[in-house]
Amino acid sequence: EMTGEITRRISTSTTRANFLRESPNAHLNKTLLKRYTGLKYDQNKFVQCTYLWLDGTNEHLRLKDRVLKKIPERPEDCPNWQYDGSSTYQALGENSDITLVPRALYKDPFKAGENDVIVLCDTYKPDGSPTDTNYRAAMQAAYDKTKDLEPWFGIEQEYTFLDVDKRPLGWPANGFPGPQGPYYCGVGADKVIARDIVEAHALACIYAGVEFAGTNAEVMPAQWEYQIGPSLGMKAADDLWVSRYILWRIAEEFGVVVTFDPKPMEGNWNGAGGHTNFSTKPMREEGGIKCIEQAIEKLSKQHKKHIQAYDPRGGKDNERRLVGRLETSSIDKFSWGVADRSCSVRIPRGVASAKKGYLEDRRPSSNMDPYSVCNAILTTCLLD
Ligand code: ADP
Ligand code: MN
Ligand code: MN
Ligand code: MN
Ligand code: MN
Repeated sequence: EMTGEITRRISTSTTRANFLRESPNAHLNKTLLKRYTGLKYDQNKFVQCTYLWLDGTNEHLRLKDRVLKKIPERPEDCPNWQYDGSSTYQALGENSDITLVPRALYKDPFKAGENDVIVLCDTYKPDGSPTDTNYRAAMQAAYDKTKDLEPWFGIEQEYTFLDVDKRPLGWPANGFPGPQGPYYCGVGADKVIARDIVEAHALACIYAGVEFAGTNAEVMPAQWEYQIGPSLGMKAADDLWVSRYILWRIAEEFGVVVTFDPKPMEGNWNGAGGHTNFSTKPMREEGGIKCIEQAIEKLSKQHKKHIQAYDPRGGKDNERRLVGRLETSSIDKFSWGVADRSCSVRIPRGVASAKKGYLEDRRPSSNMDPYSVCNAILTTCLLD
């Protein structure tokens, strides 16, 4: 019986107690920082900027802070900056300076200053070409060619809270919670885990300027989802990376690990996806279902190419997740359907009845790079 299991583990687990001891972040007295965040200084003259970028894994973020003497209003108001790419899997030691080019600005929910910002960047080699895993540059090029069609993306991000032992947070150390069923969109101490972090994350994202659309508890206990968009062009992909940063950062304070791995638990436990919803202006207009079906037809002919673009390991991660069960399609075969969650691409019921709207590509894994995914969709559906 799982009811007792989850609560007992949270309150008395020695693993968890050890983790808190070993996790300096969670162990620090959080009220001490307040003594300094209350110090008065001229917030128009000293603006802290957190430069945020993707490292060479195409899966993880890096950041460093810089104090500017003027409030930036556009990304271009933040100067380009360099970092040591040999420490981020992006360069060799002898020619290691990689350039950060600011691309999008957000309000910083962590710093004390009202004008402090997060500046999301992409990365360039010394010869000026994008780094090997900079799919933002490719997506920008695809978007520039398809702007007139006003492409929108809306992304569903599933993720899992872990304890230090790499087990999902709140799971019994030597067993499993009861089978899936009661947890999805659930409420109660025996159904969901760490809602505090979920709600803090929503607030911080909204404050930052992320087009945050909602949250829900997922099918596997300790798994959650949030949604971004729909947003025009680059915005949803940029927002997704910033929202991942905010989630990792808040969980760091709580001493909880967040994984975007698409299959954190083997067996009869749902994996995690990054469903990507897509539409163009013609798809959203009366009778747009025709354009949606045309796009699906094009997607069906490029299944392999998309699987390669839909996780950071060229399809390896999705091999564990897209097993044709547990609300997923088979990795080897393209399929589509109305309201069918076992398909590669789904037309939501409401879209089918309105005969206009959007399509949902269910294949991207939860740890996908949205620039890579959106670039593939724009290229296949609109640029063949
Ligand atoms: P479900 O879990 O049933 O797939 P969600 O409500 O979790 O549905 O997610 C719906 C997603 O669809 C959201 O990310 C939202 O931004 C996106 N979306 C809604 N309308 C559009 C549209 N016209 N174009 C692109 N994305 C859209
Ligand atoms: Mn140094
Ligand atoms: Mn969803
Ligand atoms: Mn979901
Ligand atoms: Mn979905």
